[in-house]
Amino acid sequence: MISVDSVDVSFVDYDKIGIECELVKSNENLDDYSFYVQRIHGEDVIAEITVTPTEFYFNVVDYLHTYHINDDMYYSIRVVNKDTAEEKIFGPYSPYTGAGNIAKEIIRKKLIQLRTMGTTIRIYKKMLTGVRCECWDPVLNKSLRSNCPICGGTGIVRGYYDPIDIKASLSHKFSVSADKRGDLEQKMLQVRMLNFPLMRQDDVIELPKFKEIYRVSDVSRTTFQEAVISQTVQAALVPANSIKLPKEREQ
Ligand SMILES: [Zn+2]
Repeated sequence: MISVDSVDVSFVDYDKIGIECELVKSNENLDDYSFYVQRIHGEDVIAEITVTPTEFYFNVVDYLHTYHINDDMYYSIRVVNKDTAEEKIFGPYSPYTGAGNIAKEIIRKKLIQLRTMGTTIRIYKKMLTGVRCECWDPVLNKSLRSNCPICGGTGIVRGYYDPIDIKASLSHKFSVSADKRGDLEQKMLQVRMLNFPLMRQDDVIELPKFKEIYRVSDVSRTTFQEAVISQTVQAALVPANSIKLPKEREQ
């Protein structure tokens, strides 16, 4: 039976909650199972979203009315074996898990700010596990094609999970470093965002409005009452089309 490893449930907007889930890696075939995210109020299952994991991971955004959001609301993950109909339910997971009242209030206020002042960005999280691509060199421990059409240079087939759109506040700066040929100017992006999704180095950020792509170089997290409240992400501009992202390959 498939098992859930970690789940992150957080606000993406006033009326949108993001659910990000990593399953325990095993030899099981994910096609043998059905996966659902359930939204539960009190005792009742109000909504059930069908999800399709890729390489033991999925993320999904639940759209709901703000008046549905209260402390009674939580999420479960239901996994059903298609052959035996055996089912297992994991949870509850709340957007407030681990967060005390003050932390909740800080997150709520930041959401209001981002809704009016924020810019939409598209996040592609880099896959951490999966099928090794042919371009991977096990001796050098890296991909031999930075712009590989199969893995996007990550060394794992497909390379990135489905994108997530969020609102964030952005600022730009240029970092200058010198090399043999002279000064090298690098356009950097600083992103201030909430706690969803949790970012890692080498994730990719797209600014759809400007058609620019950035690669994450550094992430710092602010926590309060043991809950992650916000993240500050540094990312460097990379040439357009230098990273093959999933949606480009599908076209
Ligand atoms: Zn490759």
